[in-house]
Amino acid sequence: MPANPDYPELAAGKADWRYQPDAACLQDQVILITGAGDGIGRAAARTFALHGANVILLGRTRSKLEAVFDWITDRTETEPVIVPCDLLALDDTSASALAQAIEEGFGRLDGILHNASLLGPKTPMAYYPSDEWAKVMQVNAFAPFLLTRTLLPLLQQSANASVVMTSSSVGRQGRAYWGAYAVSKFALEGLCQVLADEHENANRVRFNSLNPGGTRTAMRAAAYPAESPADVPTPESRMDIYLYLFEQASLSLTGAQLDARTWNGPTHSAAAPAS
Ligand code: NDP
Repeated sequence: MPANPDYPELAAGKADWRYQPDAACLQDQVILITGAGDGIGRAAARTFALHGANVILLGRTRSKLEAVFDWITDRTETEPVIVPCDLLALDDTSASALAQAIEEGFGRLDGILHNASLLGPKTPMAYYPSDEWAKVMQVNAFAPFLLTRTLLPLLQQSANASVVMTSSSVGRQGRAYWGAYAVSKFALEGLCQVLADEHENANRVRFNSLNPGGTRTAMRAAAYPAESPADVPTPESRMDIYLYLFEQASLSLTGAQLDARTWNGPTHSAAAPAS
């Protein structure tokens, strides 16, 4: 029995959706979401659960993950799990332990939303601190590589798995002062393209990148402190394209670079503008 996806927290955002997926479009799918405790990741976790998915909530702040877990279990019959994990410390051992836990707990994995990210300093390259560079690259690019590589055998057992890399405008067109954040998103785009090419004939796992565009979150406020949050779309208003990328409607899509700002629904997927 699917939950009712029209909870107040989602209703306002849903009014802006350009695509209306089925209420049970993710029924029984198991989807790992990184950075699930806040911002876009939290909205995705709630939305996916309301559409039937069992979500694996990975993040570094346990209290935030617990709040998302409680929200989901209060409203749906899905089975979320919490994975407290600082991606700064992710290595082969901890990634393998996660894969084993998912296999033992669910016996399957149908998708990964690589969403967690560090903004890092906005500063000229000439002054960019090496230690900050390493942290941003670890969380934004290395962790998605390591998680994907380690979880690939599980994904390949799914009939149709989806991996989504969360990109950014500055990961498609370089911009002054965005430093390691921009470079890490370029790396993520490259990772996505290589994986999509390697798997394009296997037809079981699809890989796409998505730029959510300016979205009302803590990261956005940190990057644009002078901006009024009220002028920026909410994470919930972006969730139509996130659902699309994990449900049946996108089965034939792989290697695409989508942009939530210009996307008008499944038949009108558009590449990112250069802005
Ligand atoms: P937020 O900062 O609101 O959320 C980021 C999430 O990532 C948080 O839950 C955070 O955990 C988690 N995270 C950060 N570092 C780590 C870590 N080391 N280990 C585990 N989890 C970590 O960001 P947004 O929701 O705005 O961003 C989501 C994605 O969208 C990012 O990839 C971002 O680059 C991308 N994006 C966002 C845009 C925007 O305008 N918001 C625009 C373009 C792209 P915690 O809550 O504990 O800090």
